[in-house]
Amino acid sequence: MSKKVLGNTDQSLLFVISAPAGTGKSTLVEMLLKEFPDVLAESCSSTTRHPRPAEISEHHYEFISIPEFEKKVEGGEFLEYAKVFGNYYGTRKEEIERLLTERKHVVLVIDTQGAMQIIGKIPAVYIFIAPPSFEELQSRLFKRRTESEEKIQERLLWAKQEIALAPRYDYQIVNDNLEVTYQILRSIFIAEEHKRR
Ligand code: ADP
Ligand code: 5GP
Repeated sequence: MSKKVLGNTDQSLLFVISAPAGTGKSTLVEMLLKEFPDVLAESCSSTTRHPRPAEISEHHYEFISIPEFEKKVEGGEFLEYAKVFGNYYGTRKEEIERLLTERKHVVLVIDTQGAMQIIGKIPAVYIFIAPPSFEELQSRLFKRRTESEEKIQERLLWAKQEIALAPRYDYQIVNDNLEVTYQILRSIFIAEEHKRR
């Protein structure tokens, strides 16, 4: 009899999570990684964005220059990539292959443009997390204090286009109460691992 709710299989799965900025995806993925550190791994993307004060290179992102990013694009190194709020972000194929050989489930936190490039091509569990309302999204972005007011408005405008793509995902969760949302999210991971494929 298995003694744990997740990590009872040798078959690694790919989970793709998207949500408008400020919805709570990083918070929720952090909760998952904390509960299941030996079973889940988050993919580390490459980006041309500058690191934020507490961010560590190679842990949060591989921070690279625009020419370096373009070279990787030309070399076909990315599974998907997109320009998000003026910066490039991409998932390296090599990173995913490496994590899958560790026999862990891999979590990709990417934007909707990137997810649209792989839906229908790459077998994965696609999860969209939506904010309860625009007012609440705005309030979370303001409270987080990582962007200026102008950048917050840009993210709110873009959020409408991202939410319109939610029906393309396998699951949609509304992040109203954090603990309830987390329970739903972890249930999806558990159910997907036990699904007969
Ligand atoms: P994202 O990664 O989607 O941009 P974050 O995880 O950084 O979003 O969350 C944005 C802000 O909202 C953070 O300050 C976080 O603590 C807060 N937050 C996350 N989920 C909830 C929730 N369910 N209710 C209230 N605040 C939340
Ligand atoms: P941030 O700069 O706040 O860390 O991320 C901005 C946005 O870029 C988020 O929506 C995040 O999910 C997305 N993102 C991060 N890594 C990737 C990636 O590798 N590919 C794509 N398409 N989006 C990414």
